[in-house]
Amino acid sequence: MRVSFQVFGIAVSQGVAIGRAVLVGAGRVDVAHYFVEPSQVPSEVGRCQAACARVADELVTLRDELPLDAPPELAALLDVHLMLVHDEAFVGAATQWIQDRRYNAEWALAAQMEALGRQFDDMEDEYLRERKSDLEQVVERILTALAREAQGGDGGLPSIVPRDFAGDDPLLLVAADIAPADLIGFRQGVFKGFITDVGGRTSHTAIVARSMNIPAVVGSREGSRLIRQDDWVIIDGDAGVAIVDPSPIVLAEYRFRQRQAELERERLSLWRHRPAVTLDGQAVEMLANIELPSDADAAMAGGAEGVGLFRTEFLFMNRGGNLPSEEEQYRAYRDALTKLQGRPLTIRTVDIGADKPLERGGDARHDHILNPALGLRAIRWSLSEPLMLRQQLRAIHRAAVHGPVKLLIPMVAHAAELTAVRAAIEGIRAQWSVAQDGPWPKVDLGIMVEIPAAALVLDRMLPFVDFVSIGTNDLIQYTLAIDRADESVAHLYDPWHPAVLQLIAQVIGQAQAAGKSVCVCGEMAGDLAFTDLLLGLGLRCFSMNPPQITLVKQRILRADAAKLAVAARDVLAHPSPQERARELRLH
Ligand code: PEP
Ligand code: MG
Repeated sequence: MRVSFQVFGIAVSQGVAIGRAVLVGAGRVDVAHYFVEPSQVPSEVGRCQAACARVADELVTLRDELPLDAPPELAALLDVHLMLVHDEAFVGAATQWIQDRRYNAEWALAAQMEALGRQFDDMEDEYLRERKSDLEQVVERILTALAREAQGGDGGLPSIVPRDFAGDDPLLLVAADIAPADLIGFRQGVFKGFITDVGGRTSHTAIVARSMNIPAVVGSREGSRLIRQDDWVIIDGDAGVAIVDPSPIVLAEYRFRQRQAELERERLSLWRHRPAVTLDGQAVEMLANIELPSDADAAMAGGAEGVGLFRTEFLFMNRGGNLPSEEEQYRAYRDALTKLQGRPLTIRTVDIGADKPLERGGDARHDHILNPALGLRAIRWSLSEPLMLRQQLRAIHRAAVHGPVKLLIPMVAHAAELTAVRAAIEGIRAQWSVAQDGPWPKVDLGIMVEIPAAALVLDRMLPFVDFVSIGTNDLIQYTLAIDRADESVAHLYDPWHPAVLQLIAQVIGQAQAAGKSVCVCGEMAGDLAFTDLLLGLGLRCFSMNPPQITLVKQRILRADAAKLAVAARDVLAHPSPQERARELRLH
């Protein structure tokens, strides 16, 4: 047995998760991960073996049909691949994952590839080390064979079975990197926590983890190399550390903490439906951030009064270039509105780009871009695709018959961008058919203030908007020139920086003076360290991941907004706002 060791990273999603490591290779996060029913195990083993046999046949045919003048290395290579596809250490072990763990065939193959890949990495002999790529190619072939079989008119993939953990070990995902869209694919509850090598506190993968309420550590740099398949791991999402092969004493301590957290969650749920009103009678609107229409259920369960941010880009990602049609989007927005039962839904137009590429691993248009966060992202991308923008705007307006809808534009820097969106809306209105589409709906228009330029010229844009939403995640990134997803500069990503706080204070003040509502929908809104300060700055609308709502509400219920206003002025005027806030016990 190995000696216990720790892997340090950035704490991004709180709580404790204990389970066995499932290593997912960088290129294989997209493989379907689900559990088969015990009764399906023999047929799943059959699927796996049949796919291996088909690939073996393909390889034999390829080798036999090699032209006479083909280089001899090619035949040798095919022989190596054939050997692998028959190798018990590979096929037998993959079968074992299905039998012991009830993994689906694709997952079992990817898991075994990962385990063997590590053995190849550790080999002294360079020739043998390089055989890892052969293994990857063979697995790719088998996965393709499985995908072909699944599409082959036999009813498609088996349905995903949520795991019953009784008697089974919980699983933790360990990967070099996970794209936010892939993490969403794991929402079935298979993984109880995750660790990645890259990422920062407000990278979108971290945000999705918080919205799923699963403990996570990102930016661990070496985590996926040091942790092995099947290791027992504790993820301490508060401290940002993973403890590998923990001793029984450490394990017992963390199990105790897990139970405490569970009790605390139950206690907090009592606040769920209580309005958030400060001690001096200031009502605060508590909204939720969501990524998919189905998240509206979690928003309601968390006690949200509506949705302050629907990140619609998740409807657009990883679809092989097939963007959702107007009809598909309309249905998604309608579904979210139905779940919200009359509560408002703020739909943000797509924010594709930076750490949310359209396609897994980047897409052709963005591949050569050096600084994607400064590139064709969000509204810039939408305005460069007028047809796509038009479809989204029409879908949003059509959905508005099902409940109160607000339209939010991300990453506005120029007043001209707002003008262009307004013109697009007018164009849609001009062609709106009352007979077909119903009466033209009232949809409030708002902008995200997340680029310092927008904060600085807000007074010029306010007359043309109904509301403003402050995206602190990007506002910090762009004010401080710190990539929010880059762990190497994560220590410089400072929400307490006086420049950031001044911009936030200024935006809240200006919007309110103009009689426009203002909300914060960045991660600061759900961070207890900032609740008092934001209240003191006059903020009365917070939008956050659903699991954070009751926690923040508890803080608001104990706050005196008038006193906090005085304290906030003091904090802002101080050379070290964080220090002053601590002295004044604001966090
Ligand atoms: C933000 O930037 O604060 C925000 C809410 O938008 P996103 O995190 O999706 O960039
Ligand atoms: Mg943003």
